[in-house]
Amino acid sequence: MAHMLVPSMQCRMGITSNSIQARPIMTAKTWNSLLSNARRPKTKKSTSTFKVLALKSDNNGAVSRLENLLNLDITPFTDKIIAEYIWIGGTGIDIRSKARTVPRPVEHPSELPKWNYDGSSTGQAPGEDSEVILYPQAFFRDPFRGGNNILVICDCYTPSGEPIPTNKRYRAAQIFSEKKVINETPWYGIEQEYTLLQPNVKWPLGWPVGGYPGPQGPYYCAAGADKSFGRDISDAHYKACLYAGINISGTNGEVMPGQWEYQVGPSVGIEASDHVWCSRYILERITEQAGVVLSLNPKPIEGDWNGAGCHTNFSTKSMREEGGYEVIKKAILNLSLRHKEHISAYGEGNERRLTGKHETANINTFSWGVANRGCSIRVGRETERRGKGYLEDRRPASNMDPYVVTSMLAETTILWEPTLESEALAAKKLQLQV
Ligand code: ADP
Ligand code: MN
Ligand code: MN
Ligand code: MN
Repeated sequence: MAHMLVPSMQCRMGITSNSIQARPIMTAKTWNSLLSNARRPKTKKSTSTFKVLALKSDNNGAVSRLENLLNLDITPFTDKIIAEYIWIGGTGIDIRSKARTVPRPVEHPSELPKWNYDGSSTGQAPGEDSEVILYPQAFFRDPFRGGNNILVICDCYTPSGEPIPTNKRYRAAQIFSEKKVINETPWYGIEQEYTLLQPNVKWPLGWPVGGYPGPQGPYYCAAGADKSFGRDISDAHYKACLYAGINISGTNGEVMPGQWEYQVGPSVGIEASDHVWCSRYILERITEQAGVVLSLNPKPIEGDWNGAGCHTNFSTKSMREEGGYEVIKKAILNLSLRHKEHISAYGEGNERRLTGKHETANINTFSWGVANRGCSIRVGRETERRGKGYLEDRRPASNMDPYVVTSMLAETTILWEPTLESEALAAKKLQLQV
């Protein structure tokens, strides 16, 4: 992603960095020529056509005047950029960020400085030794600030360089750098479901306050004011993600009204998770602007309402090649033997969602099936027909950590080997011949 970002950034620069820095004293003439440069008819590549996604208000024009400043194109005047450093907070699901100026655009995250924050304010360090260090790991174009500004996905370390307990990326990066895993080029397609809530009442968008909408049925992939709630948020997010360089592959309205899904992938290894975390951050920011609350609760409303998951589609090189179906069956066998470990890492509150109803399998039993949405693992018809393809792990909850889920799938199916006895027993139980 980083290398894709740079060429387009450079060609969007109005004036090169050297021309600015070599001219420290701004004369009226140079100032005017800069201004007229900025006023020139816009080419397609100009950033000055960029508009920040901001709520409009006729509050005496106050917001629209702010909007003009938010949309200022700074690239003709400075090489400096704003980098929003993003990290995962103490609950393991909250996202925090703060901004800093970086002297010039970068091509690789390693060119970005490490930074620190007060871990005692995020539940990640004691007050008397509160410093946590941010290591930049991936960056994306910033759809909010536009221009050459960036969003930076970081992970967290103690000052002595140890990953802190909530840093799940560290272990995932280790798994994804194992030779066996690299050779299998693992692909992930992640279906992130989420629920939009009305602020203050914390009740789903489009639902009557203190009441319920009509039963599920008409809402999935629907259009219409009585069936689709929050489409502008879903659409704004879709475009913002594409702008950022996130590998978002689609979006759809969900079964429960006020609930949406988007997909990220297929992406290779750790990149899939960096993209999912950045897409979640962008969604938090867009819902913030819209005055709507984002919920990743796996079962936001008790009763006959669908929960929210994060189905993880997964394949290895051998699954995608001839004979891949046999490799998929062997992977399912391994997954069945480590069901408990996976479930315990697949998101908090998932037991409220995995009931066996509403297109889920019961949390206590492992099952698989072709085209069956009531199973833990689903294999698509197309994969069965072609004899190769991918599997879908339907167990992860909407609030799962993709670093944990994707790396665990790789570990269980590529690195881990069960004993022959347990393998034979599981094969019999699942009616799987491998
Ligand atoms: P569903 O039918 O379960 O709603 P979606 O279309 O929402 O499925 O999501 C499927 C995801 O799987 C997409 O993100 C897609 O990019 C991804 N995908 C497709 N092929 C593969 C593959 N071979 N390996 C991993 N992921 C894949
Ligand atoms: Mn889907
Ligand atoms: Mn879905
Ligand atoms: Mn799915």
